[in-house]
Amino acid sequence: MTTTGCALAAAFLVSTTLVIGADTQARALSPVHSPTLTLDLQNMAKISVTVLEEAKLTLTLIYQAAGIHVQWNTATADFTAILRPPPHPEAMRNSRFALGYAPHNPTERGHLAYVLADRTEAMARGLGVPHHLVLGMTMAHEVAHLLLPNNGHSPSGIMRDSWTQSDYKKAGLGQLFFTKEQARLMRDALAAVRLRAPGAPGR
Ligand SMILES: [Zn+2]
Repeated sequence: MTTTGCALAAAFLVSTTLVIGADTQARALSPVHSPTLTLDLQNMAKISVTVLEEAKLTLTLIYQAAGIHVQWNTATADFTAILRPPPHPEAMRNSRFALGYAPHNPTERGHLAYVLADRTEAMARGLGVPHHLVLGMTMAHEVAHLLLPNNGHSPSGIMRDSWTQSDYKKAGLGQLFFTKEQARLMRDALAAVRLRAPGAPGR
């Protein structure tokens, strides 16, 4: 199993509070056709509940714009986001700008997405943006690695391998999205997960 690290770095930007962004992708899909992504969150880094809830909302809105409904449920989670404190794995120590990683390989879908909480906090502090924004963006990015084929990166949007000042600004305005193709691939992947689930129709 390989580890995909993400150098989600940025330079200087002052961003603001996340605003709910209703993307046309989401509007085009009725709730009936929006697949559900069920997530669990393990707060090993002891992030405050307030920051955690706002980070979860940040992630939820990013996926909502891709036509994916997010629910948080430990018992039925498809994937788990783990907010971890240091010490980090060697690969991450050697990639000092990485904010997270999601172990997976081409034949086996991973289920754990790690966020390096000390780095997201330092990044937020350095940029003057809310920590929940960087946390939520990073969780959204790493979970997507578990749903998308290959390395999942794109030249723009939430799956950029290294966010720019402009990306953080867009995210603060609720305007940093998955590409339409990424959104479609993730909706298809979630549908496939549901079809394989015990008791699912057609099984
Ligand atoms: Zn990445």
